[in-house]
Amino acid sequence: MKIAIAGSGALGSGFGAMLYRQGNDVTLIDGWEPQATAVKHEGLHIDINGEDYHLNIPMYQDTKIPSDLQFDIVFLFTKAMQLESMLTHIQPHIHDTTIMVCTMNGLKHEERIVNYVDKSRIVRGVTTWTAGLESPGHTHLMGSGPVEIGSLVPEGQNNVEVIYNLLEQAKLNPHKSEDLQQSIWKKICVNGTANALCTILECRLSTLNESEYARKLVYDITKEIVEVATVDGVHLNADEVYHYLIDLNDKVGPHFPSMYQDLINNNRRTEIDYINGAVARLGSEHHIDAPINQFVANMVHAKEEQRQAK
Ligand code: NAD
Repeated sequence: MKIAIAGSGALGSGFGAMLYRQGNDVTLIDGWEPQATAVKHEGLHIDINGEDYHLNIPMYQDTKIPSDLQFDIVFLFTKAMQLESMLTHIQPHIHDTTIMVCTMNGLKHEERIVNYVDKSRIVRGVTTWTAGLESPGHTHLMGSGPVEIGSLVPEGQNNVEVIYNLLEQAKLNPHKSEDLQQSIWKKICVNGTANALCTILECRLSTLNESEYARKLVYDITKEIVEVATVDGVHLNADEVYHYLIDLNDKVGPHFPSMYQDLINNNRRTEIDYINGAVARLGSEHHIDAPINQFVANMVHAKEEQRQAK
């Protein structure tokens, strides 16, 4: 099976490396020219949980994929705002039964992916693997997952099996989600509180827990997200989720979330429109107010503009 990693930054490189090390036929594809060039000419240098690897995985820039390459499985690992462009570049390289896997953060990516493959061929999910990109060609992957996956429609269950087996063989620790939408919304609660607040406040996760005001913000954002989640038939308990989030912040205490790293360290635009922004948008479509999520999204955008993030 020919596998493409469409978006080979931090997490894409990590998944690509894990799959490649188990003998899979993996091709990395990336839209950022420095990353594509570095890996193409010097290979991928990756630290996986403290072990260094140097892997010569084929790599192409997304605009330069050889015309005869066809992929059976495509893992989508762009940032949310790069997804549409990547899908356009990958379209000539998929066929009637290609499976697309999307475990990116954010809401409703499937609404765009479905313009390229049938719903039954989308395997959606979330992951708690963490990854970073130090410089072009140099990345790291940390943790043990899991990767929670599921199908959007019953006919897609066979494709979930295929991806489950592949991820298991690659030691990526897959789980079949019992409730895919619930898994996605729970991850939105994590990203919508930790990512957004640590970026606005410029702090580590543990620092959030130390402030009564920050904890109250975590609670209020969560409460709104949980209310909007009901439009997808998801019924989470705000108090339970809040305690889960506070506990999680304690566990990963010294860590700076990826949104912080993107904007504060690297002056890059964030995925806020697909997280808190998407919650507010979806809420307003269904007459559920989510003003705090909108405020948070506006704050992050103001900060992006102030810093002239790219
Ligand atoms: P990433 O930012 O590392 O990579 C995305 C794209 O940006 C790639 O094309 C990459 O080459 C490029 N890029 C990376 N650093 C850059 C820089 N300094 N300047 C310009 N371009 C740069 O993205 P990611 O962290 O791999 O995330 C991919 C998806 O997975 C996102 O939806 C993210 O939210 C999700 N996710 C990430 C993690 C994580 O730990 N990184 C964990 C869970 C989910």
